[in-house]
Amino acid sequence: MIALRHLAGKRVALFGLGGSGLATLEAIRAGGGLADAWDDSEDARAKAAARGFDVVDLARADWSAYSSFVLAPGVPFTHPAPHWTVARAKSAGVEVVGDVELFFRERAGAAPDSPVVAVTGTNGKSTTAALVAHLLRAGGIEAELGGNIGVPALALAPPAPGRVHVLELSSFQIDLTPSLAPTVGLMLNLTPDHIDRHGTFEAYGAVKERLVAASGLAVVGDDDAPSRAMAARRIASGKPTLRASGGDDPAADVFVRDRSVFVREGVRETALTPLDGARALRGAHNAQNAAFACAAARRLGVAADRIASGLADFPGLPHRMEEVARIGKAILVNDSKATNADSAAKALASYDDAHWILGGRPKEGGIAPLAEFFPRVRKAYLVGEASDEFAATLRAAGVSHELCGDLATATPRALADALAGASSAPAVLLSPACASYDQFKNFEARGDAFRDIALRLARAAQDRESGR
Ligand code: ADP
Repeated sequence: MIALRHLAGKRVALFGLGGSGLATLEAIRAGGGLADAWDDSEDARAKAAARGFDVVDLARADWSAYSSFVLAPGVPFTHPAPHWTVARAKSAGVEVVGDVELFFRERAGAAPDSPVVAVTGTNGKSTTAALVAHLLRAGGIEAELGGNIGVPALALAPPAPGRVHVLELSSFQIDLTPSLAPTVGLMLNLTPDHIDRHGTFEAYGAVKERLVAASGLAVVGDDDAPSRAMAARRIASGKPTLRASGGDDPAADVFVRDRSVFVREGVRETALTPLDGARALRGAHNAQNAAFACAAARRLGVAADRIASGLADFPGLPHRMEEVARIGKAILVNDSKATNADSAAKALASYDDAHWILGGRPKEGGIAPLAEFFPRVRKAYLVGEASDEFAATLRAAGVSHELCGDLATATPRALADALAGASSAPAVLLSPACASYDQFKNFEARGDAFRDIALRLARAAQDRESGR
């Protein structure tokens, strides 16, 4: 945990008592500061009070006592409308910041040269951040991984020389971090998302671009037009910039050709590392993630052979094209994080012979946008609320399919078909293209359920083989 010594003797207000809110309160207390905390949920307030934090109704509080207001990143700052606490802070002249801002302020005072890698973009943030931390560790460098992934920034070990912080940052977090100053900033890609929270695509992009502008070295995507425009503006500013691509891109400084990551310096192209052995990094989207992670690891001094071994043994993240079992010739893949058609497209593009388990609570547009991938689908197994709607789309496209209701039914059926089919390497792929809420608490619970079923099937297959 990071003690926020710069807040010693000060009093702040805080709204939002989720994981990062509670970690912030701990960090303030450890640094000798005071905080008045509030949340709409009575349950969250009770939990904070039980941990000895000051729970104070901010609607009735005297805001002139606060030096700052810390807002949780999930609470609307600007759109669709500023949360009432933001209006209160503004009228009292109190600055509004996030927990990551407090991280950067503490680092500026305590260990300004300690390296920070910040990762943002519309897609691939978690994978890339985890991969950067993994490559650093493969190079013998101490790495702390957190922010929007797993551990809140202030719950990590404190900034120190020789310790690298790898922070995944959402646009909401960047918006609340005016002192953002990473050593290396990665801006992966930009496609329309979260417009409800930023008003327009331009406003969303402008927030992401703040990370590009604030980084010592900025690594910016070259695979979509808005990112390319950001890179051009950054290069025009004269600051250190690398352009990265998941493809064989003649304009990029780091790119991927024939499943190897290359670095281009002037006219010289050098193969840095193969991606072939990297089982957890299948697909063009992961090539993009790998190119970025290699650029960051290289900048922080990880040798090429360590980068190569790190890529090869990167385990990947749960629920993102996660290989959970191999049964006979079939691999079983948990891609529960694919809650929309866009994400499912990435998985379908990565497997040639898919026995595709999909469904849940459908999103607008359904699976019609996935039609170009239907030839890769040997058969589809439908679960959840979307079943009838998706069955109609599949029927019209001539894709063989079956209504299964739930994962417990769909998974063994898909496996049996995969094993009986002609393909030498079929995939039983859970990539739902739907939200999970009709049958599960969240996509993690759905993925865990699938993994359990897959492992049970794997054990049963093993038992059969050994004649037990
Ligand atoms: P994020 O943290 O940005 O949500 P993740 O690394 O968790 O991203 O990946 C979530 C999903 O996004 C993956 O399952 C995959 O479908 C898709 N994805 C991952 N990386 C990329 C990328 N570089 N470009 C486009 N889509 C990606």
